[in-house]
Amino acid sequence: MKLPIEYKVEPKNLLDLMLAGDAKLTFISLHTQKHITFFIKGDKFQAYDYKVYYDNHFIGRLSNMQFQHYPKELPLSKENEAFEWIWKYCCQPERMAKNLDIYHNGNCARCGRVLTTPESILIGLGPECVKLINK
Ligand SMILES: [Zn+2]
Repeated sequence: MKLPIEYKVEPKNLLDLMLAGDAKLTFISLHTQKHITFFIKGDKFQAYDYKVYYDNHFIGRLSNMQFQHYPKELPLSKENEAFEWIWKYCCQPERMAKNLDIYHNGNCARCGRVLTTPESILIGLGPECVKLINK
């Protein structure tokens, strides 16, 4: 799996991107080189309510900063396990950096538009959206 190095996300910026509203993030294990991509789509009208997708499948919901996997009755799938791990440690940049490389997909994590300037590509957010996120 080769992703443009410019799309690499600094672990300290991960939470902002995950909660931006339209984030597609790929995580690559530094130990196994396996990769997994999650799409975290926020309800823009309801703060802190997000749906999490893996490979176009709905795998759970982030609500009030808690992840609830779906369907509840089934044992955890490996995607769910991976997401739970990421969610648990996304506020621990050192731990992230030791275990995973993180990439965005070249689009703004808030509005989904293609990022064009080097500054925007570096942070994964467009110039207008970064202002809104940091409010
Ligand atoms: Zn944007």
